[in-house]
Amino acid sequence: MTYVYGPVPSRRLGQSIGVDPLPPKTCNYQCIYCQLGKTTHFTNTRANFYPIEDIITDMQTSISNNRNKFDYVTFVGSGEPTLYKDIGILIQKAKELTVQPVCVITNGSLLNNIEVSNALMNTDVVMPSLDAGNEKDFIKINRPHPQIKYQSMLQGLIDFNNSYSGYFWLEVMLMKEINDSREKLLEIKQKIDLIQPDRVDINVPIRPPTEDWVEIPNDIVYERIKEIFEDYSNINFPEKGTFEHSHGDFEHELLRIITRHPMREKQIIKTFGNLELDEKTILEKLAFLESKDIIVKKIYNKKVFWRKK
Ligand code: SF4
Repeated sequence: MTYVYGPVPSRRLGQSIGVDPLPPKTCNYQCIYCQLGKTTHFTNTRANFYPIEDIITDMQTSISNNRNKFDYVTFVGSGEPTLYKDIGILIQKAKELTVQPVCVITNGSLLNNIEVSNALMNTDVVMPSLDAGNEKDFIKINRPHPQIKYQSMLQGLIDFNNSYSGYFWLEVMLMKEINDSREKLLEIKQKIDLIQPDRVDINVPIRPPTEDWVEIPNDIVYERIKEIFEDYSNINFPEKGTFEHSHGDFEHELLRIITRHPMREKQIIKTFGNLELDEKTILEKLAFLESKDIIVKKIYNKKVFWRKK
């Protein structure tokens, strides 16, 4: 299975089958907090990076193998999924293959593109990001492709949601001393009021960010967030559950997950513990993969994470 993974537990979507139609780290942003590491394929040109038939075949197989085991089909993965030119066809196909809702997790930068907007109208949930209240902070935090301007991106979010009948859940990533001051939060809130999303998820960087200097806000900021976001408030909660794995090949399954989704060491032990591997063996296997330069360990927020090199 190359383009489709899971079901994996998701913070907001329960068990989710992920569709990832992009080469690793293909994006039109280079967010300072990105959990996938640096953007290695920085582009704003939409293309069918892989043959659409191959992606559809993977979707068919995964959906049919996991009947009753997932809550959503989610387009997400190694970058910005709306860069896949025919994402509209993939969404349509997913709708034909399952009655479960279809979601797109996007940075929102291309919602002002009519093709992207039309494609995403056919989904049940769209989850865009907005981390900045002005152009300067947008450039500092998201480091977008030069063709992407803040005002136009914002207008894309507003216009899309004006016509969209599904759920529009906005995600805001807050980082210490970057966008968590009262002034910055109020500025973001003002833009959110223009967008009128159905829900706002306030997140903090719980996984290792691309830039080491990105940090989780101090606890005191939570009160500020609650006060400013009032009824929108939906503070991030840690991930629960274990990752589904289809067979007993530890290395294969681990890499399949952490290529898109860094995992905490404890989560790996819990997930793979039921493959009759004890903790000591799992740690030895991780150390072996690290010594071969296949995976990399990151200590972040006093927790150990592993991600693909
Ligand atoms: S966080 Fe999302 S939008 Fe930002 S660089 Fe990573 S993949 Fe792209």
